[in-house]
Amino acid sequence: MSGEVPATVQGIYEEVLRRNPGETEFHQAVREVLESLAVVLGRHREYTEMKTVERICEPERQIIFRVPWQDDRGEVWINRGFRVEFNSALGPYKGGLRFHPSVNLGIVKFLGFEQIFKNALTGMPIGGGKGGSDFDPKGRSDAEVMRFCQSFMTELYRHLGEYTDVPAGDIGVGAREIGYLFGQYKRITNRYESGVLTGKGLGWGGALVRTEATGYGAAFFAEAMMAARGETFEGKRVVISGSGNVAVYGIEKVHQLGGTAVACSDSSGYVVDEKGIDLDLLKQVKEVERGRVDTYAQRRDSATFVAGGSVWDVPCDVAIPSATQNELDGDAAAVLARNGCRYVVEGANMPATPAAVKVFRDTGIGFAPGKAANAGGVATSALEMQQNASRDRWTFEHSEARLAEIMRDIHARCHETAEEYGSPGDLVLGANVAGFLQVAEAVHAHGLI
Ligand code: GLU
Repeated sequence: MSGEVPATVQGIYEEVLRRNPGETEFHQAVREVLESLAVVLGRHREYTEMKTVERICEPERQIIFRVPWQDDRGEVWINRGFRVEFNSALGPYKGGLRFHPSVNLGIVKFLGFEQIFKNALTGMPIGGGKGGSDFDPKGRSDAEVMRFCQSFMTELYRHLGEYTDVPAGDIGVGAREIGYLFGQYKRITNRYESGVLTGKGLGWGGALVRTEATGYGAAFFAEAMMAARGETFEGKRVVISGSGNVAVYGIEKVHQLGGTAVACSDSSGYVVDEKGIDLDLLKQVKEVERGRVDTYAQRRDSATFVAGGSVWDVPCDVAIPSATQNELDGDAAAVLARNGCRYVVEGANMPATPAAVKVFRDTGIGFAPGKAANAGGVATSALEMQQNASRDRWTFEHSEARLAEIMRDIHARCHETAEEYGSPGDLVLGANVAGFLQVAEAVHAHGLI
């Protein structure tokens, strides 16, 4: 971990450790927020008296359920489903579903906890939640994924609602899964409740720009960060880890803003393409064929594939980690710094370890935490809910302009809050404090619940 937990919040942290044994990612996420809050609690005695921080660290509700399903050969499988409804002070629980074998309660709680502050930063009326399953969609047929999603929703539906809890996608959950989940929800409830899920297909209630939003948003955030230092994307080399939804659309926007994305990755290794990643080819390989990045390198002369290894070895000006939590450690951060990297912008949730964040601080690399930089996805989900509620449909241009504005606002809020609380340039502190203050004020106003 990066440093000592400040004395004022030490007791809260120890209680979180005691009550949630073994949930290391959750501990990490809580600790990072608590480290920022000492400065706030000094100014708000009421939050200490009413145990506001302690209440925010305890989910309002945690649901764990069995998900049985049959594969194409008739074999029975049993997975575990989760939904952690963390905080509804600002609106209905909102946050994605992750389908990945690594999913457990601690992972869902770390994601749900981050989501509370991220959603607050968007300025939209959404609370924080997260869910998922240890189901691995990789290599499964459409029919298997459908049966899994139907079984998952057969339990989850009773906890959802457009005014209650509104899931969306995350790793392993995209438009296909949202379609199957929505179909089953509609069938069980006999309600065409568009606003109960976001990330829907464009023909049946989905919003334009939702697919692109997280990646685009991270690039807009990076642009705002650079502008604060009098710089632009023009001529910058960018490395983006991952090759899922966030990475693909991050690359697209980086190119549109004048930068060149030269590398991306998946769990098999990474590709470097000095001419810049060919987005049509990457989309073909990853989205259409659901293949691996080495296929990209095989089809493109200017690209080389490196099996295993760290994508952070590729020199760059801007790094956008967009794969998964704790993918960028202290050693990788030191390599980035040595190679002259100037900005690290988290496209994924908590991809930089505390040791990496310390390196960024010590070397003056501009660092944007995921709860600020990747909030474009969930912000556009809130715009999707808004369109569903008013039975309206916005154009691509209007939706993208709203997203760009939201990302600039989040940057400004984090930047100004960091200054106000005596840590200019520290966007981690700025994001944690600005997000916390908004949630805490609502929690306090609602009384002891
Ligand atoms: N899973 C995304 C996130 O981490 C999006 C959540 C949503 O759209 O509700 O923010």
